[in-house]
Amino acid sequence: MSNAFIIDGKAFAAQLRQRVAAAVESFIALTARKPGLAVVLVGEDPASQVYVGSKKKATVEAGMNSFEHRLPASVSQDELIALVETLNADAAVDGILVQLPLPPHMDDKAVIAAIDPGKDVDGFHVVNAGRLAVGEEAFVPCTPLGCLMLLKDHMGDLSGKNAVVIGRSNIVGKPMAQLLLAENCTVTIAHSRTQDLPDVVRRADIVVAAVGRAEMVTGDWLKPGAVVIDVGINRLEPEAGQSKGRLVGDVAFDDALRHAGAITPVPGGVGPMTIACLLRNTLVAAHRRAGVAAPE
Ligand code: NDP
Repeated sequence: MSNAFIIDGKAFAAQLRQRVAAAVESFIALTARKPGLAVVLVGEDPASQVYVGSKKKATVEAGMNSFEHRLPASVSQDELIALVETLNADAAVDGILVQLPLPPHMDDKAVIAAIDPGKDVDGFHVVNAGRLAVGEEAFVPCTPLGCLMLLKDHMGDLSGKNAVVIGRSNIVGKPMAQLLLAENCTVTIAHSRTQDLPDVVRRADIVVAAVGRAEMVTGDWLKPGAVVIDVGINRLEPEAGQSKGRLVGDVAFDDALRHAGAITPVPGGVGPMTIACLLRNTLVAAHRRAGVAAPE
């Protein structure tokens, strides 16, 4: 029997996208121009091509301009940085996203560092990471921002909650922990060297799993009633007769349902929030650049 409430990230993301689209209309009425998002894709990575395609579609659906730049995998880092600098200087571009991972001959950090922090709608630039850490206005990476929105929508005030974030990457785990700290949670960051991880997780009112290991967190790791945000996207081996394996999260969903108070599914949980938050960050960037107050 399942007890846990299933947090519908797809529905929440659809509402957020509608709110962004409405705010885009007001922005255009005020400034006589559309917000613009430039997406740069280097190489032919199939997953990245799908992500870039979805981002373009969502951007246009929200009423914004989408500028797509596809470069061959053979392009040099200097050429890529030159493109980023052109986009930095382009008044029609409010947000710049360089799709990661970049080909092995490039240094992701050097390329991200070239983006104007005011257009860094992915929130990966060290200036934005630093601003988040010291509590200043920052562009926050889209996936943890989406997780926080789902948590606040479900739980309201997070103050005083014990939160465990499993994973310490710069794009998910660390910013997630910063956001929860800013909401006055008591935050533990766990990682591959953490000892007795199930015991650590068992203390948590909020569990955010961002590991990349299929169904690692089982129901018996969870404090009864814990709210679980599953960021992981893992594809299982295909079953007999299937060409593709099933997508699962880092949490054993069916098992967790019996222990958790609420949980995000995979797919349909955190994933749709990432693109919705990218649109939201682009909208905010456009407002800041135009010197007008950004909507909440
Ligand atoms: P990374 O590989 O960068 O980080 C994974 C983290 O998990 C690391 O900090 C690592 O620890 C930790 N880890 C690995 N194994 C264990 C273990 N056995 N026990 C505890 N911790 C462990 O991944 P990302 O942060 O980029 O992504 C995490 C997951 O989220 C992936 O499945 C990814 O596909 C998904 N994702 C989903 C998004 C969405 O839109 N829904 C967006 C971004 C990511 P250590 O630092 O010690 O190595």
